[in-house]
This record gives sequence, structure tokens and C-alpha cells, in this order.
Amino acid sequence: MQFASRLDNVETSAIRELFKLLGTPGIISFAGGFPDSAMFDVEGLKEASSKALAEEAGGALQYGATEGYEPLRTQLSAFMKTKGVEVEASGLIVTTGSQQALDLLGKTLISPGDKVIVEGPTFLATIQCFRLYGAQLISAPVDADGVRTDELEKLIAEHKPKFVYLIPTFGNPSGAMLSLERRRKVLEMAVRHQTLIVEDDPYGDLYFDQPPPPSIMSLTREVPGSRELVAHCGSLSKVLSPGLRIGWMIGPAELLAKATMCKQFSDAHTSTFAQATAAQYLKSGRMPATLAHVREVYAERARAMGEALQRELGDAITFTQPGGGLFFWARLTGAGGKVADANVLAKRAIEKLVAFVPGAPFFAEKPDVATLRLSFATANVEKIREGIARLGEAL
Ligand code: PMP
Repeated sequence: MQFASRLDNVETSAIRELFKLLGTPGIISFAGGFPDSAMFDVEGLKEASSKALAEEAGGALQYGATEGYEPLRTQLSAFMKTKGVEVEASGLIVTTGSQQALDLLGKTLISPGDKVIVEGPTFLATIQCFRLYGAQLISAPVDADGVRTDELEKLIAEHKPKFVYLIPTFGNPSGAMLSLERRRKVLEMAVRHQTLIVEDDPYGDLYFDQPPPPSIMSLTREVPGSRELVAHCGSLSKVLSPGLRIGWMIGPAELLAKATMCKQFSDAHTSTFAQATAAQYLKSGRMPATLAHVREVYAERARAMGEALQRELGDAITFTQPGGGLFFWARLTGAGGKVADANVLAKRAIEKLVAFVPGAPFFAEKPDVATLRLSFATANVEKIREGIARLGEAL
């Protein structure tokens, strides 16, 4: 079949093959990016969906506005306020997961050949989505404090990108957190170069010991002229349920209007039933307890994984203990000055019945084959210890 030329820029994910093996009996998987389904607040969501049907079936089951179901926009505006972002209900649009917000950004902003700066490494689906629209991706280096702002500014000056895409808080896959100082610098350079910054923030609520610095969007209050230069994507996927497919985007009115127009042609609107359920859930006041619960469980798993990696892999690996999110990002140190290949280890690991994702596909440019991503979200502490011990054997 003759497919559209835009598909020429995109390969199917190199890690899909690996995912096929995850059904192997007895395997312990650190590969996926899923939250743990045992942590879904089923009772709360049952109540919320029943209420949505009992009180507002007309809205919850009917076609709805493309921008989003009004009661949910109101609840999300209040939710963002608790996180230091002042936004009217009309200042955000609801999207079908934050993945759709990324797609709408690609559709509205990227013409073939346009340059977009992303972090190296960054979220794989973003790389593929932006490439589908013909973007030329430029990779900015990341260290333990998130994207290197000195390098980022040089790249902005050199390439004049259409926008810069960042996951500043517990990035996927890097787990890194952009420091407060660097967040301010990002906003200042956005103003200096008049460059749009996209802040993708599905993990900001998943912190362990202490809350992350304020989001880039909330810091726009401090930097004159910056608010119109930031788009912020949020999601209920990692804290409540990815199956609900509820995300949102805040940004310049002009951008939201174009994104809404494109969304109309794509899915008309996000499921009104899911939106009404999410609105009822947020209104029920259960969210703070849910957040506290998921933070506690993931924090314990992250601690267990850090300890196990130290114990079982020692000098063979370097990593930073994440302060939140779902991932460890690690690098094989290699032996005798040779770079170790995480792909080779991944194959051996599968034989030992443990899975992780090699890091190379997460780089839009200059892949580092020694890197790997390990998720601590779905295995319990005992499985994490066992899985990392198997990884040690594989190594
Ligand atoms: N952005 C990042 C950085 C992610 O890791 C994910 C999910 N893995 C998404 C966006 C998309 O999430 P969702 O569409 O479920 O909101």
C-alpha cells in the first residue's frame, strides 16, 4: 500500500519487539511506563461515575464541546490553583490524555523541516509524534538537574526552534528534576528569544519526600512577558487512571483556539462520560488522599530499587535516585574503557526473566547505548529486589 510520505520519518518503536516478550511467564518487568493498576481508586471512581450518570446523564452521555466539559474545566482550574497556577476554566482545554495535547501541538505548530528542541533523552512518543509532522529534532543535554540551560540557550540561538519541549519534573525517561534556578533561566531565555516553551508535566504530583519546585507555568508570574510563551500539559493518567484518558493543556489563547479547531476534526471531544466522571471525582475531595497513597507506595518502591541496584550492580552502573515519578535512568559503566551496550544486557536479562528498556531510542540525536530505563511502578518491593538480583546475574 502507498502510505503518506509523512510516515517515512517515523519508525515503529525499537522497543516494541521487547514488549512482545513481556508476556513470558514468570517475568519481572521494569519495562513499562504504566502506573500500578492495584492503586486505582476503584471505589472512588465507581461513586464518581454513578453520580455522573445520576446527576448529569444528559451531559455525560451526549456530544460535548471540543474545548472540554465545563464542570471538568472548572475542577481542573481549581486543581491547577492548588499547584500555584492561576487559570480560568476557559483558559484550558481538555485533551484525550496529554498525548493528544502533544499531537495537537505538533499539528498546530510544526511544518515539515521546522526545528524543535527536546531533551536528550526524552519521551519516545513525543519524538515519534513530532517527527510525524516533519520536525527536525535537536537534542539538548540533560544532567541530574534536568536540561543544561547553558547548552539550551546556545541551541535556541543557533537553531531558532519553533518551540522547546521539556519534561521538567521527574522526566520520562531521565527521572531528572529541573532545578528552580534553571526553571527561571528557561523562562528568561524564552522571553529573550521569544521562544515557546512546552512544559509536559504528567509526573509533578508523584513526588516522594518533598514537592518539586513550582512548575514553569506557575513561575511565569515572576517573569514579565513569559506567560504567553508557555504551554503546559497536564494529565490524570499517572495519579488516577490512564484509561480515563483525561489530559489538559494551558497556553496562549491563540494556540488553544487552533488546537481546539484541530481536535474538532480529530475526535470532536474527549469522552464526556470520562470527563464527567473525572469532574465528579475531583469534586468529591478524594484526590488529596489518593495522591498521598500513590506517593507513599511509589516512594517505597523507588527506595527498594535504589538499594537493590547499589547492592546487586555496584560499580557496574551509575544512576541518580529519583525524587518522584516512575523511573530510574541508569548508565552501564562498561569494563576496560569499553562502552557497554544496554541492548545486549536487555536480551540476556530476558533470559533471566527480567525486563527493562534500553535507553538509546529515547534520544532524538546521538543515542547513548549504555543507558537504560527501569520502572519501579508495577512490581512490589519483593519483586523489585528479586528482579534487580536477576539483572545482576544477567550482567
Ligand atoms: N508525556 C509523558 C512524559 C509521558 O510519560 C506520558 C505517558 N507515558 C504522556 C505524556 C502521555 O500520557 P497520557 O496521554 O496518558 O496523559
